[in-house]
Amino acid sequence: MKDKKNTFKIAIDGPGGAGKSTLAKALAKKLGFAYVDTGAIYRTVGFAARARGIAPDDAPAVSAMLKDIKVEARFEGGRQDMYLDGEFLGDRIREHEISHYASAVSAIPAVREYLFDMQRSIADENNVIMDGRDIGTVILPDAQLKIFLTATAEERAERRTRELEEKGQPADYVQILADIKERDERDSSRAIAPLKAADDAILFNNSGYTPEQSLAEALQIVKDRLGIPEV
Ligand code: C5P
Repeated sequence: MKDKKNTFKIAIDGPGGAGKSTLAKALAKKLGFAYVDTGAIYRTVGFAARARGIAPDDAPAVSAMLKDIKVEARFEGGRQDMYLDGEFLGDRIREHEISHYASAVSAIPAVREYLFDMQRSIADENNVIMDGRDIGTVILPDAQLKIFLTATAEERAERRTRELEEKGQPADYVQILADIKERDERDSSRAIAPLKAADDAILFNNSGYTPEQSLAEALQIVKDRLGIPEV
């Protein structure tokens, strides 16, 4: 696909709870890039399935649903807001149950195809830091920098538990750890666009890092690889 604007693209992929969005958001702010959370886009499709009572692994029903829904990402003041059929979803896509719905619908080829152009065209129009599972491998194989961010499942479960607690949502560490492992397995083993590092990605395991330490490390990588000065 033609890259009309010669935009800068940074891809951050990795499993759930590795801190991709925290890191990508902070990095985007530093660099003056748009942050694109592709998980939020899959969560919106998962949300739509749940709202219609469709089982998220029912591929024919989910695929048929796509014709009837409108998924939009709107960017305002550095924030990405998701809309379904014109309705602002806010934090409703962050519910723990929606993680499962998103992971299941995202294994359906028709869903990935449906969202491909949307993700690609955002990156053609803006300097972006996009995070997800297949950004470096499928959506932006031409990204100038790819980071594959990981942390142990236990550490990721602890972070998610804390995050949910801070938002006042139910959080059971043991259940969250089991769910994370199940989601890792499904995301990594699916036939289409599985979670895996691109050959040219820089591997970054941030177990034991604070968000500030992760950001400092990532900024160093950006400077070394791209020579972009901080803004
Ligand atoms: O990143 P987040 O945890 O919000 O993503 C929710 C789910 O959406 C993931 O478990 C994954 O299955 C799916 N996803 C994906 N490809 C992406 C981003 C998210 O399959 N690029």
